[in-house]
Amino acid sequence: MSPVPERMPENIGKLLSHVKKPSRYLGNEFNACYKNWEKAALRVALVFPDLYEIGMSHHGLQILYSVINAQEDLLADRVYGPDKDLEELLLSQQGAIFAVESRRPLTEFDMIGITLPYELCYTNILTILALGHIPIRSTERLDSHPFVIGGGSGSFNPEPVADFFDAVLLGDGEKAVLEITAALKTAKEKKLDRLKTLEKLAEIPGVYVPSFFAPRYDSQGKLHAVDSLKKGLEKIQRSILPDLETSQILEKPLVPLARIVHDRLGIEVARGCTRGCRFCQAGIIYRPVRERTADRVVELAEKGIVAGGFEELALLSLSTGDYSCLSPVLGRLMDRFVKEYVSVSMPSMRVGTLTPEIMNQIKRVRKTGFTLAPEAGTDRLRMVINKGITEEDLMATCRDANVLGWKLLKFYFMVGLPTETEEDIRAIADLVRKASRTSVDRQLRINISVATFVPKPHTPFQWEPQITIDEAFTRINLLRKSLPKGNYKLKWQDPRQSFLEGVMSRGDRLLSRVIEEAWQRGARLDAWSEHYDLSIWQGAAEACNIDLSHYLRRRDFAEVLPWQHLDTGVDQEFLLNELEKSLTGDYTPDCRVHGCQNCGVCDFKEVQPVVKCKLKNKDDNGGQERIETATDALEKKIAVQRPGEEKKTEQDKAQYWYRLLYAKQGDIRFLSHLEVIQVFFQALRRAGVKMHYTQGFNPVPKASFSPALPVGTESLAEYLDIDLIEAIKDENEFMHTINAQLPEGIAVKSVADVPDKKGTAAVKNLTCYHINFDSDLSGEDREKLGSFMKCESFTINKIRKGKKRVIDVREQVESLVVTENNSLEMVLLSEEGKTASKPVAILKAMLDLTQEQSLDIDILKVWSKSAH
Ligand code: SF4
Repeated sequence: MSPVPERMPENIGKLLSHVKKPSRYLGNEFNACYKNWEKAALRVALVFPDLYEIGMSHHGLQILYSVINAQEDLLADRVYGPDKDLEELLLSQQGAIFAVESRRPLTEFDMIGITLPYELCYTNILTILALGHIPIRSTERLDSHPFVIGGGSGSFNPEPVADFFDAVLLGDGEKAVLEITAALKTAKEKKLDRLKTLEKLAEIPGVYVPSFFAPRYDSQGKLHAVDSLKKGLEKIQRSILPDLETSQILEKPLVPLARIVHDRLGIEVARGCTRGCRFCQAGIIYRPVRERTADRVVELAEKGIVAGGFEELALLSLSTGDYSCLSPVLGRLMDRFVKEYVSVSMPSMRVGTLTPEIMNQIKRVRKTGFTLAPEAGTDRLRMVINKGITEEDLMATCRDANVLGWKLLKFYFMVGLPTETEEDIRAIADLVRKASRTSVDRQLRINISVATFVPKPHTPFQWEPQITIDEAFTRINLLRKSLPKGNYKLKWQDPRQSFLEGVMSRGDRLLSRVIEEAWQRGARLDAWSEHYDLSIWQGAAEACNIDLSHYLRRRDFAEVLPWQHLDTGVDQEFLLNELEKSLTGDYTPDCRVHGCQNCGVCDFKEVQPVVKCKLKNKDDNGGQERIETATDALEKKIAVQRPGEEKKTEQDKAQYWYRLLYAKQGDIRFLSHLEVIQVFFQALRRAGVKMHYTQGFNPVPKASFSPALPVGTESLAEYLDIDLIEAIKDENEFMHTINAQLPEGIAVKSVADVPDKKGTAAVKNLTCYHINFDSDLSGEDREKLGSFMKCESFTINKIRKGKKRVIDVREQVESLVVTENNSLEMVLLSEEGKTASKPVAILKAMLDLTQEQSLDIDILKVWSKSAH
């Protein structure tokens, strides 16, 4: 870590103009919590160690943010991983990474809570700590440093990163995080030293302090034991929240300005899945199943949509199709939201639970996508992994989806599962071909995703070997060749990334040296294939004298496993028994339907399965009975109403087009055109404005925006034309209501009727820009400006989609006036059908500026009018 002074970048706007996706770092989300820094007794920075678009999609982090901020004396802020360009900039300017709301460096917080979502984010943790000027290793931290505490699904084998953490929470965070913050607050008040504070933390159920345990290796370097260094602290029991209903609910979800991976309202309908897939770690570490009531789910949806303005709500759980109240909840949600064009999605649907009734409900607004996960090609292999679905189930689901109008389905498979043969791989191709043939209109497209099976700790397959990189490529190639030509697209997870995932998944504490070495050598954002470089890891492992492939070996039953002292609550005997049953293909049914299977998690006093509605589907193999076929559903003409199909009144049919003139100023200039569109639609929905929508299967509000403003340019002259269902009664009040829902920097300045929507587009436009440079214009600059205006033609090259075009920019500049020593006024003429150039591109060519210099120019669009 470089010995640099800790300071914030002085001008975040200037800094962001030099990165490729600045909106990632803007924060300013709707419903973000801004607490008084000075009044907070304890300040927590919640870190997601990957890019914003992934981190903001993470439901768990938002829950903790809301739980902590609900406490009067606590403050929670957020930090997301920087992309390489911001990291380089911060390093070059000796800056520190900053938290989203407070914009303060990490050293000013008392606790840094880092989510461990997957293994390929480990180097990002080091990047964030280093950019926060916090020593990477816990042993190097002083009393003055914040406590670095991990949590999330990756905490069940945190050994590879254990040296970087002061503590790690195992299990549900809602209650435990408040116990942790209470302990830290008391320690701060009493001025306890670091060790004493860690001892207090270790008393909290679920909290693991890695420095209180020491791995011991034999002379061959084999893990011999993990010794507890504290009396009475032999195993760490996972923290379990017995009932979700008792936890703090997320009433006001964060609404990002930037586009993220899952931009929707997430509602956790249940936690835990007891289907018992033998490869699945989540199926073990979140046991038992705990459902929310139908009423609570509907209440959360109601509050979340009002507070967020989302157009999609997702029912989240490990297997939403198994949620016992799904059918009534879905009906209620669709009835409530269909008129507002809010669609419902269920990202994790199990084949066999995706019934025509459910599909029929979902498609009432938008046909949100489904991923079906057969995981393996044959019924035999699916019995090995306890998947509990048959080829017949899969074909029926595909046929139903297609009959009901879905044209694209996504399938997910793994290669390298225990006992897999070539026949199982070829069977994947057969399965896809058969699924395609179920299509009634022959138009069903199937996207296939394949990943290498990675044995995970705490699962029945934790002792199994992982196939090598070469073997994984061989099997994927076999699948590729077996797939006939047709409506299929095959994508696969890079086996080189799965290799590292496998190493870290079952890794031990020795790997912390490899992670640090790889990070020093430049490993960053390893989950992103464009950044991942296996050779860096191989070089780092060699330098540390560690054989990475050794971690993929079959583990002996007698072997000490690095995670053995971390207790999920599931008995070792259950896992061994499940492994044995996998070899004989014996099925273990879901305990929620077929009674307890004795995994060991429940005490049946406090902890037990929580199922809120009566389960009606019960069959012998644990799968769900099919309620009806799609054809039945169509024949019965299930009375579902789509938006726009309701009986329209004269009022509904009336169209009221308005033009909203708005300004975009300050840091918000870094939002892209598409992001601004989304910000407006969400703001209008939150404000309760009733809009007309387009028809079809992806309805959007009927609106048009002024031409795209370049990212980084401010404007006083943007507009949005929108078609409303009702006339605006009071324009000032309307403006006030909308502005209250818009982020700082975007403000509607006027609202006017658009009597003839068709006649509003001008053929020629004049647009005026005010331009400010960092320093005064030199004599040479002034000469260049003068020559430009005198010349007949001035061409620049523009490359678009790989094609070079020569554009005469002289004819686009109507006037150019030096207004102050460092300022210009430029008026540009644009014409329909002709390529318009950005002011910055013209200035760059005119003044011969470098790319870096051009990024420091401030541009404000002042007005725009028809040239007629
Ligand atoms: S203890 Fe029994 S009821 Fe509880 S999760 Fe395990 S198998 Fe299910």
